[in-house]
Amino acid sequence: MSFTSLGLAEPLLRAVAEQGYDTPSPIQQQAIPAVLAGRDLMAAAQTGTGKTAGFTLPMLQRLMESKRKVSPNRIRALVLTPTRELAAQVGESVRNYGKHLPMRSHVVFGGVSINPQMMATRRGLDVLVACPGRLMDLYNQNAVKFDEVEILVLDEADRMLDMGFIRDIRRILALMPKKRQNLLFSATFADEIRELATGLLDNPAVIEVAPRNSTAERIEQLVHPCDKANKIALLSHLVTSNNWQQVLVFTRTKHMANRVAETLDKNGVSAAAIHGNKSQGARTRALAGFKDGSVKVLVATDIAARGLDIDKLPQVVNFELPNVAEDYVHRIGRTGRAGAAGHAISLVAADEGKLIKAIERLTKQNIPCEQVAGFEASRETLDNIARGIGAPLRKEPRDPSEQRRAPRPQGQGQRQGAARSGNNGGNAGANRSGNGGKPKPQGGQRPAEGAGKPAQARRPRRASHNQ
Ligand code: AMP
Repeated sequence: MSFTSLGLAEPLLRAVAEQGYDTPSPIQQQAIPAVLAGRDLMAAAQTGTGKTAGFTLPMLQRLMESKRKVSPNRIRALVLTPTRELAAQVGESVRNYGKHLPMRSHVVFGGVSINPQMMATRRGLDVLVACPGRLMDLYNQNAVKFDEVEILVLDEADRMLDMGFIRDIRRILALMPKKRQNLLFSATFADEIRELATGLLDNPAVIEVAPRNSTAERIEQLVHPCDKANKIALLSHLVTSNNWQQVLVFTRTKHMANRVAETLDKNGVSAAAIHGNKSQGARTRALAGFKDGSVKVLVATDIAARGLDIDKLPQVVNFELPNVAEDYVHRIGRTGRAGAAGHAISLVAADEGKLIKAIERLTKQNIPCEQVAGFEASRETLDNIARGIGAPLRKEPRDPSEQRRAPRPQGQGQRQGAARSGNNGGNAGANRSGNGGKPKPQGGQRPAEGAGKPAQARRPRRASHNQ
């Protein structure tokens, strides 16, 4: 299958060829013809599947074919994204794929000056890529109107709901003409997404390229059992002994992201942290350094990392497991991109036995477990991992600006025996991590894009029964 056979016009085919793509990815094969035919779309696809080109290419062609003129303050296509990074990346794709077309596009998000954004929207745009909060600010200042929108794309809709943008999205939807084409992309088709889709989409083509909660087969996964106090040293050892040149490391909190990055840096491993407390400039610099190789280790929280598109990322490390098992799938999906092999290593401590078990249950696999010489885990750690017990007690309260949803219940608490390799024996041991601080109360602000601000008014997605 080639891009030509999908019905794309010459200026777009030329741009695709210049990007070096010869074969459309599965999502592109399905999405491009459907969007070109004018259909609404509901697509389950994560970053890394080629989804951006999957909607951008046919969107540009539809705009080209409809030949309407851009009016001042008006936009013809609107792409909404949850984070600044994703907005910037989608904006870059729009520029790349549309470079042989006379299209005006712009990207808007919070955390930077609004004035240049107002000037751009006031002229009118063919394509606007935006985070919902800043877009509403522009609307409230009469810098943009939505009454001529022909195409709406909701990218990473699940994450937008998680981040509390639903009210902004609904307000924007209400300001658009009824007749328009709607494309919805989401990592999963959770109930909230289906609910949103029901009111939004008209007889959509439904595409699911990454079945829910399946981990990509091409990603080699490994657990290193490790005592909490040794984690940073082990990470540092892994980076140097394996000569890793580019590794994305996930932590649960911003505080830990900083600590890991600072310690690695002190140990001579170039590292930077990326999370919602960092200024936009610092985040952009960290990402640029990571992409150009001057920063070997990028340490990120889940929200900050979401949507990051780093070509052929070879290595992901879960420094701490996520509280929500689905996030593991998102995290390791950063590696093994576009057909390349990827590796995902999880450093699992005594208080994470329950989390790794939940991940294995969700992804229907047993992840191989290997000790690292010189960093052997204690018997308690091995035993907790083997038995799937021990969950974090929130010693470090999660910063509300990183919190999006409560952890899901973890079944009935019945273990089915040790499934992992070679880690038997010893007592289970009580959970000894921390003293169970409470999360901070949340304020009443609208979420800030990309800064990972939470859904303030939103009910928690799932009740927490296990903390
Ligand atoms: P996305 O899922 O849209 O974030 O894209 C993931 C990565 O795959 C991006 O770096 C794209 O440049 C790349 N990509 C998209 N489509 C193709 C394709 N057909 N062939 C090879 N790489 C692609």
